[in-house]
Amino acid sequence: MEWILNISCAANAMNGEICGCDGDELIRSVSTDTRTIKDGAVFFALQGDRFDGHKFVPAAVEGGAVCCVVNKEEGPFNGFPVIAVEDTHKALRDLAAFYRMNFQIPVVGITGSVGKTSTKEMIASVLRRSYKTHMTQGNFNNEIGLPLTVFDLMKEDEIMVLEMGMSSRGEISNLTRIARPDTAVITNIGLSHIEHLGSREGIKKAKFEILEGLPMDGTVILNGDDDLLWSARGEINFETLYYGIRNKNCDLTAYDVRTYSDGSEFTCKIDGEPYKFFVSAPGEHHIYNALAAILTGLKYDVEIDDIRKGIRSFVPSGLRQNFVELPNYKIIRDCYNASPASMKSGLEVLSLAQVKGRRVACLADMLELGDISPEAHRSVGRLVVDYGVDCLITVGKDAHYIAQGAEEEGMNPADIYEFDNNEELIERLPDLLKKNDVILVKGSRGMRMEEIADAIAEL
Ligand code: ATP
Ligand code: MG
Repeated sequence: MEWILNISCAANAMNGEICGCDGDELIRSVSTDTRTIKDGAVFFALQGDRFDGHKFVPAAVEGGAVCCVVNKEEGPFNGFPVIAVEDTHKALRDLAAFYRMNFQIPVVGITGSVGKTSTKEMIASVLRRSYKTHMTQGNFNNEIGLPLTVFDLMKEDEIMVLEMGMSSRGEISNLTRIARPDTAVITNIGLSHIEHLGSREGIKKAKFEILEGLPMDGTVILNGDDDLLWSARGEINFETLYYGIRNKNCDLTAYDVRTYSDGSEFTCKIDGEPYKFFVSAPGEHHIYNALAAILTGLKYDVEIDDIRKGIRSFVPSGLRQNFVELPNYKIIRDCYNASPASMKSGLEVLSLAQVKGRRVACLADMLELGDISPEAHRSVGRLVVDYGVDCLITVGKDAHYIAQGAEEEGMNPADIYEFDNNEELIERLPDLLKKNDVILVKGSRGMRMEEIADAIAEL
C-alpha cells in the first residue's frame, strides 16, 4: 500500500466514527488477519460463520495496528483505537473504492463461470510485456480478496488486472464499483452457482453486473462461442469485442487450430493480416483465454510480437492442470475446482496427453449444482466416453451419475469403479492403477482430490 491516507481520511471514506485515536496518524497497510499484521496497519474486524474479527482487536493493536475498523454495535472497545462503522465488510469495500480512485491507471476486470484465473494470468502475461502490471494473486477474487488486491496497488503500477468471482446476485456489482474497470472480460456463462441463481439467464445477469462499473468509453470483451453472451449483442451500450473459434462472425476468430499434448497453435487475423500464436498449455479452453488476452493487449497497444510472446510464456498455476511425471504414472493434477465446463477441458487435456498405457479419469463430485446436478454429472460421464477414457474412477455421491452417464454411453462397466470417499479409493489405488497410466484427478475443491493425487505419488 502507498500510505496516502490518514485515519480521518479513511474514516470519512467509510462513513465511520473515530474513537480512541488520533485522526492524523497515517495508515500504511490494511489487514484482516492479525497473524500477518504489520506496523501501521488498519485492521478490519470481519465476521464470518465461524469467526469474529472483533475478538482480535487487542491482538491487532498489540501487533502494530494504528486502528481497527469495528461494527458499531459490537462495542465498547475500552480505549482501543477504532473507527466504528455500520458494517465492516462494506467499510472494507468503501475504503478500497476510495483508494483505487487515487490511481489514474487502466483496469481490466475479468468475470465468468470458468477460466477467470487462467484468463487473468494470460492477460497479465501479455500486458506485462509493456506495462508494470498489478494483478489478483491466486484466487483472491471475492469481496475480501479484491479489496486487499486493490490496497496492494503501488504508485509505479501502470495497469491492474482483477479477477471477480461471485456466488450470488449483487457481488459482482459490489466488486466492479471498487475496481472501476475500463475493460470488462466475461469468459463464459456456465452452470457454477446455479443453486443460488436459478438459471443460466440468472447467472448471466449476475455476471453482467460488471458493466455497472464501466466508464462510457469502456470496452467489453466477450466469448462469442457462448450462446448467451453472443445473443447479448444488442443489449450492451459499450464498445463490445467478441472472440471465438466456432463463431466466424467474431471480431477475433481463431482458425487453423492444432492441439498438441503440450499446447496449441492457432492463427487469427488482426487488421486483415494473419498472425500465428502458440499457447503453452494444452486444451482448447486456453485458446479462448489467449484470444481474450490478444484483444486486451491490442486495446492497450501492446505490440503484436509482444502479445505473441506473452501468450507463449503463460503457464497454468497452482492446482490447475499440472502435469506430474512419476516413475510409473503421469498425473494431471486438476484438484482446484470442477464444473461441467472445466471437467470437459480436463478430459480434453487427458485425451491429448501422450500415453504409453491407459487414460484414466479419476473424477469426484462437482458441488453446488442444485437440481441439475444428476444430469450435469451424467453429461460428464458421456464426455468420458467421447474423449476415449479407458478407465473411470468416481468418488462421491453425485459422481455416481458420471459413472451412470459413461455406462449409458457404452463404457464397459468393468472399466468403471465407484467410491464413496477418498479413504476408500486410496486403499484400492494399488490394485486399480497400472504402470504407464495417465491419470486425470479432478473434482470440486470440497472433495480434496489433492489427497488422491498425493496418494498416487506415494505408490
Ligand atoms: P474459480 O471460480 O474457482 O475462481 P476460475 O473461473 O478462476 O475458477 P480457473 O481456475 O481459471 O477458473 O480454471 C478452472 C478450471 O477450468 C481449470 O481446470 C482450467 O484449466 C479450466 N479452464 C481454464 N480456462 C477455461 C475456459 N476458458 N473454459 C473452460 N475451462 C477452462
Ligand atoms: Mg479463479
